Amino acid sequence: MSVEKVVIVGSGPAGLTAAIYAARAALKPLMFEGFSAGGLIPGGQLMFTTDVENYPGFPEGVMGPKMMKMFRDQAERFGTRFIREDVTQVDLSKRPFTVRSDENEVQAHSVIISTGARANWLELPNEQRLAKAGGGVSACAVCDGALPVFRDQELVVVGGGDSAVEEASYLTKFARKVYLVHRRDALRASQIMQERAFKLVEEGKLEIVWDTQVTDVLGDEFISGVELQNIKNNETREFPCKGLFLAIGHTPNTELFKEFLDLDDGKYIKLKTPGRSFTNVDGVFAAGDVADHIYRQAVTAAGTGCMAAIDAERWLAAQGIE
Ligand code: NAP
Repeated sequence: MSVEKVVIVGSGPAGLTAAIYAARAALKPLMFEGFSAGGLIPGGQLMFTTDVENYPGFPEGVMGPKMMKMFRDQAERFGTRFIREDVTQVDLSKRPFTVRSDENEVQAHSVIISTGARANWLELPNEQRLAKAGGGVSACAVCDGALPVFRDQELVVVGGGDSAVEEASYLTKFARKVYLVHRRDALRASQIMQERAFKLVEEGKLEIVWDTQVTDVLGDEFISGVELQNIKNNETREFPCKGLFLAIGHTPNTELFKEFLDLDDGKYIKLKTPGRSFTNVDGVFAAGDVADHIYRQAVTAAGTGCMAAIDAERWLAAQGIE
């Protein structure tokens, strides 16, 4: 079996940018672009996004799926090969590494992991229906919150962690008022973020709805409200709003790698040196959301994909593999 120089697992902005760089460096990358693992499809989270308005170079915005097709076309143009399958197993315990899917098994001198992370959802039927239809339900306020449909409206954010406070605080710039719905009576967010939240409450821009969960999402084509349930007395009520933002955490797609790679408490891949792409296994690199619980943006993922390809290229050269 021939040994690939670089195998890339995952086809979001990080993986495809790594592919563009690796292909242009004549490494002939082979990408497992996935099929349906982790609830994602080839192209990653942006395939479920409508307008992307914050990716530089697109002054008019661009649809997520269209942008990912452009990334893929660019990677293909320079010779990236694609396998449209989910990776089912890896062996990173010895070199060359092994990467397996149902139909394929390849050996690789180096592997770039860019399997991303998936936003957690409440998994309510109407939540999923409206999220997929661009109906005002989103798991990324930074991505979608500035859209005109949310301006000067009453918006609901769910969660009590740093992300929820950060997203709620971001939305107060556009919304008439933001309601932070949290299932307990204390925030999980860090002290500094809590202070930020309470200041916004004082200013009348934010209201925290304690001990409450969202039990349904209302609206046909666009959200008209949510059903809230107080978890202390079980009372439910309808609450009108024109946007729902989930901020209840993310799950990185690291299940396949946990046996070999160091992960942090949130199961994100731990980078050997912050700001680089090296993992604890020599020859295995990580890029994008799978190793980033802070920024989680297409542009930062693309940037780290570039870094991983350059790190892999230099590492391969140091091993005498060119
Ligand atoms: P997180 O800290 O895990 O918080 C998730 C929040 O969602 C919790 O408040 C949790 O409630 C709530 N939640 C979880 N499942 C729920 C459900 N099914 N229904 C209702 N609520 C649910 O996640 P995160 O806020 O995304 O933060 C992840 C990591 O990134 C943290 O380490 C955080 O510090 C970091 N981060 C940092 C910054 C920053 O420093 N600027 C910004 C964003 C994230 P409970 O509290 O009841 O568990």
